[in-house]
Amino acid sequence: MSSNRSTPLTANGTLRIAIQKSGRLSEGSLALLKQMGLGFETYRDRLFAQCRNMSIDILFLRDDDIPEYVRDGVADLGIVGCNILDESQVPVERLLPLDFGYCSLAIAVPEQSPLKRISDLAGKRIATSYPATLARFLKEKQITAEMVLLKGSVEIAPALRVADAICDLVSTGSTLRTNRLTVLETVSRSQAILIGKKNPSTKKQKIIEKLLLRAQGVQEARKYKYIMFNASASALETIKKLVPGCKSPTVVPLADPGFIAVHSVVLEEAFWDVVEKIRECGGSGILVSPVEKFIR
Ligand code: ATP
Ligand code: ZN
Repeated sequence: MSSNRSTPLTANGTLRIAIQKSGRLSEGSLALLKQMGLGFETYRDRLFAQCRNMSIDILFLRDDDIPEYVRDGVADLGIVGCNILDESQVPVERLLPLDFGYCSLAIAVPEQSPLKRISDLAGKRIATSYPATLARFLKEKQITAEMVLLKGSVEIAPALRVADAICDLVSTGSTLRTNRLTVLETVSRSQAILIGKKNPSTKKQKIIEKLLLRAQGVQEARKYKYIMFNASASALETIKKLVPGCKSPTVVPLADPGFIAVHSVVLEEAFWDVVEKIRECGGSGILVSPVEKFIR
């Protein structure tokens, strides 16, 4: 074991990856890194962790600081919401959308508000933590409104009569409902994204490419299910079209002549349609399991 590991205040892996310390993106970020094969422990209040099996350090930071850290090379890679990048416009490489942390930046008004459409916002006060994104949106819509800059708890601004509308992140809408607010217009959509420093060294670029392949493998796997079933050999041609898999399905003869076992992968979103069609052509004993990694 290297002596670094017992020195808790030095992060000196070859590559550093910054993720949110605690918040809505933490769980998804940790899960992704672990599924990418990075072995590390997380402890409360620790600002970084060293990977056991790779020369990589994980930095735990506030999400708002991650783009600047990546731009400045304090971290080589980072995971943040697109909303943070859109707002800060920090120049970093957008490497891979990560398919979690979905939300949208929306303008909302009190349920009983006379404001019904975006043109009604002219001359009104809109509370937000996203002034740059909101300003761009208003300019595009040619609306002049007053912005009230708040760092948090934006949703209570209308009740406090601090603003007539808010522009804030929403996902399920439950915070809006609790505060009796309703969406007037969606400004932008967001999800977590892997970002990287522009122009990394050749050495780092190689590791980054390796990690990207792994991240894509994990993401790809989440979209698919592994499916196995038995069918009559006479249905093979229909089955090949139903479950083409990567190239074609794996077909194994059963001990019972005239019958086959078919193995393939199916897109999660098409899964139930495919299962119904498999049954229609006599398929049975359908077994399904998750795919952990999928490298094409
Ligand atoms: P930090 O302490 O790291 O600054 P925070 O309070 O700014 O945390 P969170 O509320 O944890 O941040 O949100 C982090 C990110 O999660 C957001 O920037 C956004 O990309 C994403 N997100 C997903 N759904 C929501 C939501 N309903 N509200 C806010 N953010 C959401
Ligand atoms: Zn934040």
